[in-house]
Amino acid sequence: METLLQAADQQSVAAAAALLRQGQVVGIPTETVYGLAANAMDGAAVKRIFEAKGRPQDNPLIVHIHQVEMWSQVVAEVTPQARALADAFWPGPLTIILPRGSQVSDEVCAGLDTVAVRMPSHPVARAVIAACGLPLAAPSANLSGSPSPTTAAHVMADMQGRIPMILDGGACQVGVESTVVTLAGEKPVLLRPGYITQQQLEQALGEPVELAGAVTRQLQKGEVARSPGMKYKHYAPKAEVTILKGSLENYRAYLADHSGEGVFALCFEGEEKGLETPFVTYGKADDPASQARELFGALRRLDALGAKTVYARCPGTTGVSLAVYNRLLRAAAFRVVEV
Ligand code: AMP
Ligand code: MG
Repeated sequence: METLLQAADQQSVAAAAALLRQGQVVGIPTETVYGLAANAMDGAAVKRIFEAKGRPQDNPLIVHIHQVEMWSQVVAEVTPQARALADAFWPGPLTIILPRGSQVSDEVCAGLDTVAVRMPSHPVARAVIAACGLPLAAPSANLSGSPSPTTAAHVMADMQGRIPMILDGGACQVGVESTVVTLAGEKPVLLRPGYITQQQLEQALGEPVELAGAVTRQLQKGEVARSPGMKYKHYAPKAEVTILKGSLENYRAYLADHSGEGVFALCFEGEEKGLETPFVTYGKADDPASQARELFGALRRLDALGAKTVYARCPGTTGVSLAVYNRLLRAAAFRVVEV
């Protein structure tokens, strides 16, 4: 299959919408990361997403809508709690899980009785949903397990020959996947940290939001994943990544002792000064949003440079930094060394 990479304009958006109505899969930009979109109401179309990504069938997808009216097509009921979160954060990088409706395809929910929904703010994503008039299931547009794509070129690298079209809407502004919160249980639970923080959710809901344990640690033996995605290897470059937790001074000293063939530093801008090791940076030490925006691109760059071993500076673990830490931790297969 030939993959068309097109600048997002009125014409290409209309062409993408036509493909989506025919049950095809299209790569689209969102403010978080690029998504691989298909009609969420059509099981055969959704299956094509899983095939293109090589994604495990039991990992459910997020449904994207462009106006709240579309929400009721896919969930059993929009609860007052859900509406409060939507009022506060939509359109934007927040995904809300509720009991599912009967029309949404079983493949989207992957056998669960709940469905995850988000209203993106990216103008191209919104235009595509509006043009086809369909709720779109759209996971990140990478091959399953590899770093999420934050540019159209990243999508092309993973999806060339697998899907008919990719819309290029520039680099993603947020750079990490949406915050995922479930309202389907007794209490709200944050399943995946993102740009919208736990504190912001608590403020909007007026009640505590629990943080799922698997956000900052590996699932334990016998523990059931509250979000199936937590089970899988994620965001991993080919290189073996280790997070070094501690001061910059100790980071530098550790690197000086551990340099060698294929060893790279993954540090914050400016910290490379005086390092002997080749490096890639991901944002500024005092600007977690810049780290989120640049992390996945940096992981892909390390692969392109042929890195075999990567020592990463540790981000913070609160607010937006928790999203960065959560992704880097998985990219590092939970290898953290205190220095
Ligand atoms: P992605 O589509 O690649 O951004 O991943 C979506 C994430 O949301 C995965 O970690 C899924 O396991 C999770 N997810 C989607 N739907 C549900 C659901 N109904 N219940 C729990 N987690 C979900
Ligand atoms: Mg993903």
